[in-house]
Amino acid sequence: MTLLTDRYQRSIDYLRVSITDHCNLRCIYCTPLGGAVKLDHQDILSYEEFLRLIQIAVDMGITKVRLTGGEPLVRKGVTHFCRRLAALPGLQSLSLTTNGILLEELAEDLYGAGIRRVNISLDTLQPQKFLHITRRNEFERVWRGIQAAERAGFNPIKINVVVMRGINDDEILELAKLTLDRSYHIRFIEFMSMNNDNQWVLQHYISADEILAKLLTVASLEQIASQNTNGPARHFRWPDAKGIVGIISPISHHFCPSCNRIRLTADGKLRNCLFSDQEVDIKSPLRQGATDADLSQILRASIGNKPKEHCLQSDVFRKCQNRPMVAIGG
Ligand code: SAM
Repeated sequence: MTLLTDRYQRSIDYLRVSITDHCNLRCIYCTPLGGAVKLDHQDILSYEEFLRLIQIAVDMGITKVRLTGGEPLVRKGVTHFCRRLAALPGLQSLSLTTNGILLEELAEDLYGAGIRRVNISLDTLQPQKFLHITRRNEFERVWRGIQAAERAGFNPIKINVVVMRGINDDEILELAKLTLDRSYHIRFIEFMSMNNDNQWVLQHYISADEILAKLLTVASLEQIASQNTNGPARHFRWPDAKGIVGIISPISHHFCPSCNRIRLTADGKLRNCLFSDQEVDIKSPLRQGATDADLSQILRASIGNKPKEHCLQSDVFRKCQNRPMVAIGG
């Protein structure tokens, strides 16, 4: 039974931890042109500090932790950190979201360290388009990283695709068809307005219903019941396909009523909603000698204040004022 609930009686058992704001890509929807302002080294929590906060959260009722970034794999010593995290008593699930660039080198070690689930972000199968979206010429390396993850034993391989009209919506079917003969989960995510220009949002947003309609032009889809780990994705399968297509619709069918998440940023701020600018500083008390009881009180208070729903319900163009996605972790 979860020990943590917010004031709307939602159980909070999932912590997403951004271990760095640095990234080796510059995706057009995630990182502002010219790059995001990078945190100073001393402002980023040390692995020891993350371990302490995560253990406190786990003792309070968090059972699932996902590492994100920036790009989590660019932080030195990440596999050793994963090994220590995986050994925390009470932590039931440890996963990672990555752009895949460093998976070729790290997949095996990550698996050995205890990570069993990786989500890999890949919005296109075309190297030129990859360059356009990410501003880096790294498609081949990501593709090799996906194969390395498969060889290392990660199963299923989950690929996250942010769909943008006029940019990669013409590849929805090609990407989804990867599920025909591979046991991949291809998960299409609605583009979310974070720090993006209104006109850009208007031009490129495409709804989950439209994505689903495209998939249905190929064949009927069987909806698959959600399992525990599925989170907000709705899952479908084409007849005889080995893999699964997921649709994640934070905007058009938002999942705020069942949101079970809280976030910890690389610089030690608790965010109780992806889209809210409200943050609670837990790093300062941590560094000023707060006890575990003090820190768990701060965590509990942040969870207590979790908003009923995200602000994009009422204003799709509202921006997160203080951070681009790369500094939150998605
Ligand atoms: N670097 C890692 C990666 O690429 O997966 C982890 C961090 S990244 C911020 C996490 C996820 O957020 C990625 O799947 C990315 O595509 C997604 N993301 C970033 N900005 C987004 C936006 N504006 N709308 C929807 N998804 C977004």
